Amino acid sequence: MNEIFEIDVSAAARVQFPGARVLAMRLPGVGSVDGAGLDWSANRAAWTGVDKDALLTHPSIAPYANYYQRAGINPRKHLPSVANFIHRAFGRAQARLPRINEVVDTVNWVAVSTMTSLGAFDAAGIEGPVLLDLSGEDESYEPVGGQGREPLPAGLLVLRDSKKVLSLFSIRDTVHTATRDSTSDLLLLGCVLPPLDSTPVRAALQLVAQRLGDGRSPALETLAGQGPWFDDHGGCFIAETLSPPVSELTERYQQIIASAAFQQRYRSLLKHYVGRATPLTLVENFSREIGVKTYLKREDLAHTGAHKINNALGQALLAQMMGKRRVIAETGAGQHGVATAAACALLGIECVIYMGLRDMQRQALNVQRIRLMGARVVAATGGTQTLKDAINDALRDWVANADTTYYLLGSALGPHPYPAIVRYFQSVIGDEARQQFAALEDGALPDALVACVGGGSNAIGLFSAFIEEPDVQLFGVEAAGQGESTGNHSIRFGQGGQSRSGVLQGCRSYVLQDANGQIGETHSIAPGLDYPMVGPEHAQLRDSGRANYLWASDDEALQALQLLSRCEGIIPALESAHALAGAIKVARQLPQGARIIINLSGRGDKDMQTIAQLTSAEEVPQ
Ligand SMILES: *Cc1c(COP(=O)(O)O)cnc(C)c1O
Repeated sequence: MNEIFEIDVSAAARVQFPGARVLAMRLPGVGSVDGAGLDWSANRAAWTGVDKDALLTHPSIAPYANYYQRAGINPRKHLPSVANFIHRAFGRAQARLPRINEVVDTVNWVAVSTMTSLGAFDAAGIEGPVLLDLSGEDESYEPVGGQGREPLPAGLLVLRDSKKVLSLFSIRDTVHTATRDSTSDLLLLGCVLPPLDSTPVRAALQLVAQRLGDGRSPALETLAGQGPWFDDHGGCFIAETLSPPVSELTERYQQIIASAAFQQRYRSLLKHYVGRATPLTLVENFSREIGVKTYLKREDLAHTGAHKINNALGQALLAQMMGKRRVIAETGAGQHGVATAAACALLGIECVIYMGLRDMQRQALNVQRIRLMGARVVAATGGTQTLKDAINDALRDWVANADTTYYLLGSALGPHPYPAIVRYFQSVIGDEARQQFAALEDGALPDALVACVGGGSNAIGLFSAFIEEPDVQLFGVEAAGQGESTGNHSIRFGQGGQSRSGVLQGCRSYVLQDANGQIGETHSIAPGLDYPMVGPEHAQLRDSGRANYLWASDDEALQALQLLSRCEGIIPALESAHALAGAIKVARQLPQGARIIINLSGRGDKDMQTIAQLTSAEEVPQ
């Protein structure tokens, strides 16, 4: 029996793997996840009297027990599976490592079958094992864990980053790359590959191909690897009184988000409640106007009218799974309040929204929306009666009610782990956009991305899928209001010395402030961009030069809004109009034939009053 054999999967997977030579490598005896050896209940007797605690702390077992723990699976309960798996798989895999490495060196892409190989890869120091379970006779080609067919949460699979190993969660992207390179090989590595009977392999690949059509889950490594520090920015600057709830959140969010239960529910709600995937629309008329081929990522079509629902829903679900009965949130313009109220209404969670008194008057319609969905709006009457005062009141509430209450933060800001959590929930934007663009543009990547930056959540959500792609230029657009020199603006990355690194509301980043560190007043016609601080990851991306930040004034944004409305029949939110205005500037620097994606973070309905006031003089027909 040959150890390595070439299999013909072209019939089944021609679409997904054209031109790839596919090898399979059998690792006989390395382990089996077919059930028998690993089914804890079936083998209970064999484990009576075993010192579980000693086993759990054994150096060869502890890492795996930790993986289980992180994934929300109790390792004590599943210890027989873990231990059995380790003993059988790890040891034998180790003996095969030189050979595995030799083969891996000869191919460009590796797909791993079964949990067992994960152990082998880990021992080999091969990075990023990810599973493609090719073992099944049935239809459940889920990634599997030690417990028979119990799905392994994705976070468990991704140990380290790797370019070579194909993941079920990133396979779609990498396959595009792989298949464009005609010399690419794909190695299927696993103990349960059939002796040249490739039917299950075919079936698996077919199923994977099918699944790929449904879109992949955002990679959880983006979550695990984030924060608390983004070089000098970020951190967790909190009062001692806030320490217990923040610690609780830090301990639990990764575990919960990585769990299969959370992922299933969240993905389902994104699809059926939010209406994802949102389209990626080629806007030909607008493209002609600005001179580059432009796609819009249509977050304006998400439920409640903007990207904010992705995060609100994710965190509300997280709150529920943490056992919290009550959610509080702050809101400035009201958009985050609306999204949070909607998520809480859906999940049956009590909801309180803090809002500055002045903002409540300016955004009366959103106050009504929030109340209609059953949430309470509490006026913040201190300070300037705007967003930062609302945040202060919300934090006070959190301290007082931490046992029952979850604080649902609305942008990629605040103390760790909020920037990581919000980035993760918004990364669905970038993941979808990347796939959609590749499907429409023959597997290519866009030349540039443009997004507006308030706190930075819609921008980081779009950027996240492309940060590792050096050929994709990233542009964030800040609100220049009436111009930097007037002082009436929200430019945190300006040159005028009004913004420096500082700590505000839990994290360090660029903050508009005066010489004494007093927080500066901000202005933008777009309420969502009117905030004195920018998210810490943007500060890092800016300092490292990976992303570029430019700005658009009130007037420029309004003009861009009118342009898109007229030539495409799409009325953007005033925030998103800043991205459009920024893109017009970016387009001038891009080479002929460039293709870009602009994040259309929201729709303009909420801004109609402002727009009407500012444009009435020229627009009213006589
Ligand atoms: C809130 C909001 C923004 C700004 O917030 P980010 O966290 O920077 O994305 C942008 N666009 C719309 C439509 C918004 O509602």
